[in-house]
Amino acid sequence: MSQLTIQNHTRVFNDFCYIYPVVSRRSQGLSLGINLNINNACNWRCVYCQVEGLVRGKPEPIDLVKLEHELDYMLNWIVNGDFLEQRAPVELRKFNDISLSGNGESTLSHQFTAVVEIIAKLRKKYQLSQQKTVLITNGSEVEREDIQIGLRLLSTLNGEIWFKVDSVIKSGINRINQVNLSIESIKKRLLLASNLCKTYIQTCMFKNSGQDPSLDEVAEYINFVDDVKNSITGVLLYSTARNPALPEGNNISSVSEEFLANIATQLINRNVPSVKYYQ
Ligand code: SF4
Repeated sequence: MSQLTIQNHTRVFNDFCYIYPVVSRRSQGLSLGINLNINNACNWRCVYCQVEGLVRGKPEPIDLVKLEHELDYMLNWIVNGDFLEQRAPVELRKFNDISLSGNGESTLSHQFTAVVEIIAKLRKKYQLSQQKTVLITNGSEVEREDIQIGLRLLSTLNGEIWFKVDSVIKSGINRINQVNLSIESIKKRLLLASNLCKTYIQTCMFKNSGQDPSLDEVAEYINFVDDVKNSITGVLLYSTARNPALPEGNNISSVSEEFLANIATQLINRNVPSVKYYQ
């Protein structure tokens, strides 16, 4: 049986459709991922996206019975069985979280809240009190009432929202996320999300044709985070660790650890809570 490695972030596991386990240095353990976008469809097209064959669009209808069966099977194997011993490197044998992180934006699914209800039911069945439930999102659907119901429920499941803010300049949002969106609408959605559930800003920083993000761009970002710091739980900074899957990402590369550390220091100096960075 092959072991999971921190280099392998595939969202395909055995013959499962929706559930995939990954180990990561960031979480120092095992994360059980849920992919609602098995057709690789997203409404954004971030240049650093790692999804092979990404298309613009929405996820297909989800087979909730199958998803529940897969999640139940994996949780039983992890909690009552030998999954960690069999599959995880010895230093990462800790079950950290269930994570809604797919090959596209999870909240585009109209069954998103039904999926959170399944997570709630199975967390209870397996008495998961320590593990987090994480939603990694671009925040585009937060204004939908059905999504807000799901996010409220998520908050009761040791929930966290990791809300993507890669640039706070319109041209930067357009270039990086390839969407036409104002920073005012991102801020409105971010504040809405943070009212419903613990919310971290998650930011990917990278070089473009060998150039770090400009000082002006970074300064605007720091001011933005400063402005919303009392509403958020923290900030997660990272850089592109692997090669992007999209041709638009051909020119991008990782910023240095020092670059991320410098931004983190500036945020800490503004009293932004819980600033973390990882590559
Ligand atoms: S929001 Fe996520 S899945 Fe969608 S394009 Fe951006 S990185 Fe890829």
